[in-house]
Amino acid sequence: MAGARKPKPEARFQVLHFPFTHPWRLPGVTSLMSQPYTPTPRTRVVREPHRGVYDREAAYRILDEGFLCHVGFVADGQPFVIPTSYGRKDANLYIHGSAASRMLRQLKQSIPVCITVTLLDGLVLARSVFNHSMNYRSVVVLGKATLVDDPEEKLEALRLLSEHILPGRWADARQPNASELKQTSVLRLPIEEFSAKVRVGPAIDDEEDYSFPTWAGVIPLEMTAGAPINDARLDAGREVPAYAKHYTRKQ
Ligand SMILES: Cc1cc2nc3c(=O)[nH]c(=O)nc-3n(C[C@H](O)[C@H](O)[C@H](O)COP(=O)(O)OP(=O)(O)OC[C@H]3O[C@@H](n4cnc5c(N)ncnc54)[C@H](O)[C@@H]3O)c2cc1C
Repeated sequence: MAGARKPKPEARFQVLHFPFTHPWRLPGVTSLMSQPYTPTPRTRVVREPHRGVYDREAAYRILDEGFLCHVGFVADGQPFVIPTSYGRKDANLYIHGSAASRMLRQLKQSIPVCITVTLLDGLVLARSVFNHSMNYRSVVVLGKATLVDDPEEKLEALRLLSEHILPGRWADARQPNASELKQTSVLRLPIEEFSAKVRVGPAIDDEEDYSFPTWAGVIPLEMTAGAPINDARLDAGREVPAYAKHYTRKQ
């Protein structure tokens, strides 16, 4: 699928005013300019630059709706891109994992890292194969991570990671013990050098293709929670908590 192609000056207008867009999905390009941020040469979106969003609040909204990221780093000359979960507090991302994992072992050496978060909002079907696309909101953060060593800060980072993914769960579950804490590494990545990119709206076909006889439009995609399934060994009569019954990522 082609993500970017010859410049279309009208594209920006079309994208921002397309009525299909869910209100909570509007990128906030105009309404969330509270903390404008100047991208670095490394984080300036090159293709389809009008989709680049360099506003901290808009990036936070994307980061807060997601909880899965891909962590890219190079170890012994080989790039690895590892999927994992994350949490955000203020201008920091936190990731955690087994202290023995390659990702955690490498990153705590303060090597350059790239964390990417993607929310997929739809498949965009154009008349031409070339102009098919996807609607999405994504964030890329570059930097170096630091090991969270202080026991109190580590526990707090784990709590906020848990609360980021499933608000309300931390206090309901058994707290980590000393051995579990020792087996777990937590890393903090400051959200300093970042970019967001947002595509919303309809297909943008070449003018001569609008008469091509095929269906065109958007197939919306979103993550929805199903009905919770009781564990086989659940105590009789134990109610499903509200945070599980009504789980949603919508902000
Ligand atoms: C679900 C999805 C599907 C996509 N499908 C395609 C596809 O099929 N083909 C295609 O070419 N592109 C696709 N893209 C767009 C792709 O992510 C890049 O934006 C694209 O490759 C253009 O990169 P570039 O050469 O302009 O920038 P690069 O030189 O690669 O990047 C420069 C800087 O721009 C920023 N940046 C670039 N892309 C993004 C992004 N998506 N989110 C946040 N920051 C970003 C980063 O800070 C990066 O360091 C897709 C994106 C998503 C999220």
